[in-house]
Amino acid sequence: MTINILFAAKYERWTTYEPHLRTALDAKGLSYSIGTDIAPPDVDYIVYAPNSDVQDFAPYTKCKAVLNLWAGVEAVVHNTTLTQPLARMVDHGLTQGMIDWVCGHTLRHHLGMDRHIHGQDGLWREGIVPPLAQDRTVCILGLGALGAACGDKLSYLGFDVRGWSRRQKHIEGITCYSGQDGLNAALSGAEIVILLLPDTPDTENLLNATTLALLAKGASIINPGRGPLIDDAALLQSLDAGQVGHATLDVFRIEPLPNDHPYWAHPNVTVTPHIASETRPKTASEIIAENIYRGEHGLDLLHLVDRNAGY
Ligand code: NAP
Repeated sequence: MTINILFAAKYERWTTYEPHLRTALDAKGLSYSIGTDIAPPDVDYIVYAPNSDVQDFAPYTKCKAVLNLWAGVEAVVHNTTLTQPLARMVDHGLTQGMIDWVCGHTLRHHLGMDRHIHGQDGLWREGIVPPLAQDRTVCILGLGALGAACGDKLSYLGFDVRGWSRRQKHIEGITCYSGQDGLNAALSGAEIVILLLPDTPDTENLLNATTLALLAKGASIINPGRGPLIDDAALLQSLDAGQVGHATLDVFRIEPLPNDHPYWAHPNVTVTPHIASETRPKTASEIIAENIYRGEHGLDLLHLVDRNAGY
């Protein structure tokens, strides 16, 4: 029987994804039809981006699963018309991209690179030697697919890495914490904080005046997670007071970040336009094909979202 797969994302993504999806589905030996225009009652699987036109899943009566192209699911997880299993994206390319971005920005702050990049003015600035990585405390909030992978590489580089998650983890090279007491311990004295938590009611404003005050004075914040993780007013206040030395922010409550937002003008904020890590069509298509294969062969789907936890 032919499996009908609806590609429901922005139309311009289809031309990029189509060859990769076909290659990956062919490699799995599946008999399928895939496209952007399939009658809802005929659809077996939806390859999905939350910004697509499909917002009502009720007409997809025989759909077996919705396969999200994004790692974050906050824009779909509370959709009450979605009764089908929802899988999120965990893919090697996405993970590698996040490792690259996080390690790059961590090293920027660790080495104080800006001092020299912006200081090409004829002054010989000697005598400021950064500490070794082993003497730099990095805290990663969120030890899932991305946080754990970034922590592993930062630990390999020699950083003193702590991490925090909902459930207690045991990861080589990372001092792991969980729970409210664990959050305080993870943040206390941290010099670089990386946010890789999902956007849920429990994680909103996790970095606020109280938690920012726990950090080492002049700490750097790196947020490739989601905008609502940070209380923006508290962060701006901490930046102005020097409690936070710099914030590198990739994600925001409103995107694109409005051009009059104070983050743009702040000398100690770096704004990047939600580019920390994009889903990579080739590797993501392999995950999608694997999940459809699993669905067709009665196997458990990979990376299912816990609808109650919200991620
Ligand atoms: P994940 O595998 O689901 O990991 C999420 C981590 O957060 C887990 O360790 C989880 O704890 C922890 N967590 C969730 N709620 C918590 C809470 N209330 N208290 C403490 N810890 C909590 O997700 P991921 O694939 O690593 O992705 C993380 C986030 O990165 C995504 O949700 C998305 O928002 C963001 N992202 C951004 C970009 C970008 O380009 N900027 C790209 C991809 C992803 P447990 O381990 O105990 O479950």
